[in-house]
Amino acid sequence: MKIINADCLVIGSGIAGSLYAYITAKAGLKCVLVSSADIDVCNSALAQGGIIYEKHPDLKNLLKDIQLAGGGKCNEKAVLSACAEGFKDVEKYFIKEFNTDFNRSEEGELLLTKEAAHSKKRIIFSKDTTGEAIISAMQKKLKNLKNLKIMPHCNAIDLLTLSHNSTDYYDIYKPLTCFGAYVLNNKTLEVCAVTAKKTVLATGGIGQIYKYTTNSPAIYGDGIAMAYRIGARVINMEYTQFHPTVFAKGRSALISEAVRGEGAVLINKNGKAFMAEYHPLKDLAPRDVVSRAIEHERLKTGADCVYLDLSCMTGDFIKKRFPHIYKTCLDGGVDITKEPIPVVPAMHYFCGGIFTDLNGRTNILNLNAIGECACNGFHGANRLASTSLLEAAASASLTAKADIKEIRKNKFYIPKPKDWKSPEALPDKNLILQDISVIKSTMWNYVGLIRSASRLSRAEKILRHLHNEISVFYKGYKITEDLLKLRNAAQTALLITYAALKNKQSCGTHYRED
Ligand SMILES: Cc1cc2nc3c(=O)[nH]c(=O)nc-3n(C[C@H](O)[C@H](O)[C@H](O)COP(=O)(O)OP(=O)(O)OC[C@H]3O[C@@H](n4cnc5c(N)ncnc54)[C@H](O)[C@@H]3O)c2cc1C
Repeated sequence: MKIINADCLVIGSGIAGSLYAYITAKAGLKCVLVSSADIDVCNSALAQGGIIYEKHPDLKNLLKDIQLAGGGKCNEKAVLSACAEGFKDVEKYFIKEFNTDFNRSEEGELLLTKEAAHSKKRIIFSKDTTGEAIISAMQKKLKNLKNLKIMPHCNAIDLLTLSHNSTDYYDIYKPLTCFGAYVLNNKTLEVCAVTAKKTVLATGGIGQIYKYTTNSPAIYGDGIAMAYRIGARVINMEYTQFHPTVFAKGRSALISEAVRGEGAVLINKNGKAFMAEYHPLKDLAPRDVVSRAIEHERLKTGADCVYLDLSCMTGDFIKKRFPHIYKTCLDGGVDITKEPIPVVPAMHYFCGGIFTDLNGRTNILNLNAIGECACNGFHGANRLASTSLLEAAASASLTAKADIKEIRKNKFYIPKPKDWKSPEALPDKNLILQDISVIKSTMWNYVGLIRSASRLSRAEKILRHLHNEISVFYKGYKITEDLLKLRNAAQTALLITYAALKNKQSCGTHYRED
């Protein structure tokens, strides 16, 4: 087995993983970045609405909005620290160093927009493809860093710990410590070990464990499952955010909240605007409220979807402000300059995850988690729109700075890892497809927008059985990307279901009808 030694191993190449890799490699540390697909394939690149940024921060007012959206469950310290750091990062990296193409006025000032539950305009954006603009500008810089080794189409399989994967038996007597990961090359199916002083999980959320989702194809909660398997603490796992407005054709293309921010209104199949009946903020109410209102209207009117009416905007404005959404809908047969967009909710963002402090530290030595897979309580029970890119960037830079200091100051013990062993037979693809589709539909139907004890206990039984079956099946075959994702999906789905079953109190994204 090939062994690669590094100072930092970064798993995932979204905004969090890429920014961490950029900062540490630029500071002279030897960094390895592994990613499931091409490095620009991630949820970060799909972001449409934008990223919050205040040149002269009013943190008190921002905290109020974040706390209101988060159901009062946000960790104030995390919000204040990440926003203060994040605004500096946006300016230093995204605006100045990477020169991201944000929309500006004719005078060159950054334009601001508003999304649901924001009390004022504080979101900067690049048309309706902000994530792509940020990721392409940042990743151009990554390619020039000589200390950085990028490994696309490689999946981390399991984390290395002193107690389980060291070739020195006596390491079991040391504190629980991570020293890298086994990594699968998806194309050759070879497995190598990457050892590191600091291992950083930046694997994003969990969207693909649900039948309908806006998330990128590789997002199955891998980091959360890997961390949990070695004893990391996970929190707030029941808080899964559903986006209210996803294009009903195909049920995966997001229709950004910024469209409602610019004045679009939700109407039912009879053409009636309905949000005033559900919340004083009407169409700009928090996402969980809007998603449930859509479900109620859909059921009340017996329709498959509701509609987003953009008739307050001119066709020219729509094409200029939302070119990506305009094209996506046109490809799906809907000209949004002339007719309303059919929309439904879909799984979108994960508010829970691997518990960390404000510098990305987990309860396992030398294992960090950043971005959407991590949870320090910033989002509480629900996420305020356009705060997640900022939170992911801030967690990356705070963690990178803390790691640079520690690596320069301390000595690290890195043993030789045990060889990777797995059988030669390839797994049956049909079995994998069937199991993954059971997980996705169980999560959608029983652990979805509206939950109850009976649905959740049914889900728990199905998933527990499947988890046991998959654990046995996994050991009998050569590891492939599909098998690895299936094993992680079963683990993460079960953790979410347990948390949802235990928590009987509705709050934010977790809604119990009983
Ligand atoms: C459609 C859409 C629109 C959004 N719009 C906005 C917005 O406007 N503003 C905002 O603030 N937020 C938005 N969000 C949320 C935001 O994009 C995410 O929260 C954020 O990008 C998460 O960044 P990340 O770096 O943590 O993860 P991601 O960007 O998801 O990156 C995760 C990375 O991990 C890799 N990976 C996963 N498993 C493994 C493994 N086992 N081994 C190796 N690599 C692995 C993936 O390939 C990927 O590269 C949106 C999300 C979606 C889906």
